[in-house]
Amino acid sequence: MKITRLELFHVRPRWLFLKMHTDEGLVGWGEPIVEGRAQTVATAVRELEGYLIGKDPRQIEHHFQAMYRHQFYRGGPILCSAISGVEQAMWDIYGKSLGLPVYRLLGGPTRERIRVYAHCGGATPAEAAEAAKARVTQGFTALKTGFPGAVRIVEPPAFIARCVEQIAAMREAVGNEVDIAIDLHGKFSPATAIRVIKELEPFRPMFVEEPCLNENVETMVTIARSTTIPIATGERLFTRWGFREWIEKQAAAIFQPDLSHAGGIFEVRKIAALAETYYAGIAPHCPLGPISLAAGLQLDAAIPNFVCQEQVSLGDGYLKQPFVVHDGHVDLPTGPGLGIEVDEEALKQHLFDGSWRNPQTYHADGSVADW
Ligand SMILES: [Mg+2]
Repeated sequence: MKITRLELFHVRPRWLFLKMHTDEGLVGWGEPIVEGRAQTVATAVRELEGYLIGKDPRQIEHHFQAMYRHQFYRGGPILCSAISGVEQAMWDIYGKSLGLPVYRLLGGPTRERIRVYAHCGGATPAEAAEAAKARVTQGFTALKTGFPGAVRIVEPPAFIARCVEQIAAMREAVGNEVDIAIDLHGKFSPATAIRVIKELEPFRPMFVEEPCLNENVETMVTIARSTTIPIATGERLFTRWGFREWIEKQAAAIFQPDLSHAGGIFEVRKIAALAETYYAGIAPHCPLGPISLAAGLQLDAAIPNFVCQEQVSLGDGYLKQPFVVHDGHVDLPTGPGLGIEVDEEALKQHLFDGSWRNPQTYHADGSVADW
């Protein structure tokens, strides 16, 4: 079997889909994307095309090694996301060629169903509480929220009170059986994160995510040692080499590699194995499309230390059969490969129209803020 052609679809809201064609008629799908950098990643995929055309897509590890190491300049979001999407498409083809879901090829399944979480929030505590209740009504048992707006290096008591009021209202609304995760989105200073997290402990969040940025492992370790709340991080880390120090220093209890950024399905399997040796869990990051989600679900089904899968789209309008959530879980996919059928006619209704870009956030004094 040989790869004959790579086809890219840039679709709303901010996703890039890859369709890999072969000389045997089998096709594979992947999602090579960095949020806000679709065209850059598309170019990176095109730069890999010369290597891939004519190759057997079932030699996945070998092609990962070639795509990663022959660049000389390794790592980073662009190269790793391009490789991730290509790698997902190769797994899709490999599974289809054998008539098996990818998780069967990874030694699974390790579970009977896969827990997923949904995002919710609001401008006020009352709105956030209503949004949380609505998600529970939709069938979710795990939620994730965050705090809107820019955060300065230090903030006054009223800011901390607003954070606490939001989480208190959400906990009150959904009770103690529902998990609530809190994403600080890498926009807090370590000092303010520690102060806020301490106040959030009584509400027993599932985890606090990215309490600070991913550029200094020692700061994350300091935060993690300051609290009883599990710390989660990893959406902005790439490959096993990028995760190694964070896992070894136990900077988090839960790691969140992104199947479309970290290097693909098999790379995240290796990261999960590293994390397992420190008794850490894996909750894959996925604010992306349904192909990336499908790749995540295959991985989740195959690893022992899975926690919960992020999703923002179950595939309505993109997949012939979108995923369905009941009792907080998605059923194990049964189809071969990634277990999905992309609805190409429907994709034509979702072609990217330039309407989305990354937020550009500033503080009240005009200085640049993280978002
Ligand atoms: Mg996040």
